Amino acid sequence: MRAKIDYDLCMGDQNCCKVCPEVFQYDDAKIASIVLVDEVPAQLEDRVRQAAEECAPGAINVEA
Ligand code: SF4
Repeated sequence: MRAKIDYDLCMGDQNCCKVCPEVFQYDDAKIASIVLVDEVPAQLEDRVRQAAEECAPGAINVEA
């Protein structure tokens, strides 16, 4: 699984960083969150899906 953030949509509330800090990290320079890994480890996939579902502006795209 891969996760991408649409920076036109991300509003920087950092919810994804709280749900799955192993994958998402807030970047002060971008005023947005970034994805730390190319490939999401299998054991983190459920939390990445949760982060995507909870992302209010729908900025997180998950690809199988
Ligand atoms: S939850 Fe969505 S809007 Fe909030 S920081 Fe993460 S990607 Fe951006």
